[in-house]
Amino acid sequence: MSTFGEILRTAGNYLKQHAIADADVDAWYLLVHVFGINRADFYLHRDEEAPKIQEEAYMELVEQRAKHIPLQLITGTQEFMGLEFDVTSDVLIPRQDTEVLVEEVLKVCNQTSVLDMCTGSGCIIISLAKLGNIRKAVGADLSDKALKIAEKNAGKHNIKVEFIRSNLFEKIEGVYDIVVSNPPYIPSGEIKGLMPEVRDHEPIMALDGDQDGLAFYRRIAEEGKDHLKENGTIFFEIGYNQAQDVKKILQNAGFGDIKIRKDLSGLDRVVSGRRL
Ligand code: GLN
Repeated sequence: MSTFGEILRTAGNYLKQHAIADADVDAWYLLVHVFGINRADFYLHRDEEAPKIQEEAYMELVEQRAKHIPLQLITGTQEFMGLEFDVTSDVLIPRQDTEVLVEEVLKVCNQTSVLDMCTGSGCIIISLAKLGNIRKAVGADLSDKALKIAEKNAGKHNIKVEFIRSNLFEKIEGVYDIVVSNPPYIPSGEIKGLMPEVRDHEPIMALDGDQDGLAFYRRIAEEGKDHLKENGTIFFEIGYNQAQDVKKILQNAGFGDIKIRKDLSGLDRVVSGRRL
């Protein structure tokens, strides 16, 4: 039998031995997940013995994390824009970096129609519809499995989004005020060097941006132009070193007023352009 304090310490050390980056933090979140406790409960009860069955359940999850399964795939959720999203190995886990993209789009939402290309978990379009003044919200993805998660997430937040299974714009009709996308943008050759959490557990189709990482920007800029109203805006999330390349891609596709914004770490993260 061990106390709450002991099992948390044991778990943190175990994760450290397995080279988990934020070992203590992850041990804590798993404790919250299994025991449903908060900080105050923990400090009040840390010298009490934890129920054996839950302790075993907890250690099983810690074992999974030690195998580099992402925390979010163990708990099944990730917070994004203050909202909770269900996640599975069929979708990219929402990243904090992507919140900058959502914030940029929110600034210009005013009874707006928005298409989210490569919607994945739906985190972008659902947060926009929940927090912004959106008239029509559509999310597109090639993956049926991803769309099922996205639909579930929209339901969870009581949001009306139309989800369409489409190979980029193939099945998309009509024109929008805004097209937003966080497409796969990692150069194929760099995938094998990613941390095991990402490389082995997140969907490769959500990561792989082909040889130079820019394939989706070219196609979405080119095809997206025909689905934007005149003066409509396209917003892309980009990799930290892709701003100039994506700017050129947008210019070549006939976009103007190109703007680049940084994320909270000071890295280029969002590029937008206006359809002239
Ligand atoms: N739009 C989703 C997100 O930002 C998925 C992105 C992707 O699959 N590349 O999380």
